[in-house]
Amino acid sequence: MIDEKILKELRLILGDDGVSTGQSVRELHSHDESFHTPVLPDVVVFPNSKDDVSRIVRVANDNNIPITPWGVGTSLEGNPIPVDKGICIDFQKMNKVLAIRKEDFQVDVQVGVIYKDLNKILSRYGLFFPPDPGAAATIGGMIGNNASGIRTVKYGATKDCIMKIKVVLADGSVIDVGSRARKSSSGYNLCALFIGSEGTLGIVTEATLRLVGLPGGYTALRAVFPDVINATDTVFQVMSSGLMPAAMEFLDSDVMAVLNKDRGLKLHEMPTLLMEFHGYNEEGLKPELAFVEDICRENRCIFLDKGIGATERARLWEMRHLTFESIKRSHPGLLPLIMDVAVPLSRYSEMVGYIKKEINGLKAYVFGHAGDGNIHVIVMDNPEDRVRWNRVEEINERIVLKALSLEGTCTGEHGVGIGKRHFLKIEHGDSLEFMKRVKKMFDPKGILNPGKFFS
Ligand SMILES: Cc1cc2nc3c(=O)[nH]c(=O)nc-3n(C[C@H](O)[C@H](O)[C@H](O)COP(=O)(O)OP(=O)(O)OC[C@H]3O[C@@H](n4cnc5c(N)ncnc54)[C@H](O)[C@@H]3O)c2cc1C
Repeated sequence: MIDEKILKELRLILGDDGVSTGQSVRELHSHDESFHTPVLPDVVVFPNSKDDVSRIVRVANDNNIPITPWGVGTSLEGNPIPVDKGICIDFQKMNKVLAIRKEDFQVDVQVGVIYKDLNKILSRYGLFFPPDPGAAATIGGMIGNNASGIRTVKYGATKDCIMKIKVVLADGSVIDVGSRARKSSSGYNLCALFIGSEGTLGIVTEATLRLVGLPGGYTALRAVFPDVINATDTVFQVMSSGLMPAAMEFLDSDVMAVLNKDRGLKLHEMPTLLMEFHGYNEEGLKPELAFVEDICRENRCIFLDKGIGATERARLWEMRHLTFESIKRSHPGLLPLIMDVAVPLSRYSEMVGYIKKEINGLKAYVFGHAGDGNIHVIVMDNPEDRVRWNRVEEINERIVLKALSLEGTCTGEHGVGIGKRHFLKIEHGDSLEFMKRVKKMFDPKGILNPGKFFS
């Protein structure tokens, strides 16, 4: 589909070093971190500005060429895989922090900025951008997937932290949506519509992010329980007691065992909760900590490791950040299928209990952002062994259906991509038709990240 004439047009816009048809570059942009089948784009382009993006999209629109935006490809459902080939837009050159407005708790960025790098810069101003998906994601990829993470339970997901975005539409025109005002009742919330749309409605080039002041005090807690139900009931009680944890993570005994083995740790190999609280100062957090301890003990907690201050927090949390890598490393030759569902908090215990029964006998690990009712299961297996892999996929199917039956969702944070497309009808019913109409209106030719959301 992409001939020399089109490559020439793209080079005119971006220069020779902004356009690559090299095999290794295309391979790098053919897959994310999931098991979904890689597809090589025809060409990868590296714009410097929104005007470059607009001009690239005009070329694609005039020639009916698919376009897939690309952050750093850490998605887990095939979200940035260019299934229909075409042009892949990599935003790595659009990595500028445009303005920091400390007094408004806002920052303007280009979408190629890596959020971890941004937070290093913002810490000098006593500020941070809270959604924390763990991997070194870009702001554009986080907007694409409406990513969330460990601290979402207190500070919200990406959608709660984006105020305004600049979007290149399918015909190359550019619009601004959202507002810099902290609140607004003005018109339809188009900004929210683009967040989590995985590049299927428009391509975001710049964003104004809502920031939070770095807390003056931290406490962290690791609580170990004899049984999964004791841990998950603790989650519900802490969350419904009016406390406001800044993080509330669940890890099952298999996760703890793999962390011990891979990292040489000596942690209890039992269901564990990791919690964190933020406050004005450390003294003020002590009563909160005492209350949480009481709830843990009422739920038969057998061990509590607690710490006050940023260093203690880092000690208690280090192993949580390493979970995915440790699990992968412990099963050489096998690939992960990563499940991601979320349910209302009152159903969390039931959901985790169901999952534990379903995965019996598999190399499977259960953990998640428990305070948000979000659960992940990583199953390590061999996709080449169709019988085994089909079983893993069937279990994934049943787990999602169970979450939906509990009034949950088929994806808490990883997005729809390729892997969750077939659940949308079950989850959204008749309203799926309106999503299709929205897609048609913004992208009549179907050139924006085709093959995602809808088959
Ligand atoms: C170890 C590990 C842990 C993870 N933990 C979490 C977690 O806790 N929470 C979580 O939410 N996710 C998690 N993820 C998934 C992933 O990291 C996030 O979804 C992340 O936001 C993806 O960012 P990215 O820059 O890699 O985007 P990509 O994967 O490159 O793209 C993501 C989607 O956004 C689209 N996109 C990219 N840029 C733009 C743009 N400028 N405009 C419009 N659309 C765009 C892409 O087409 C794609 O559909 C994890 C992944 C890994 C590997």
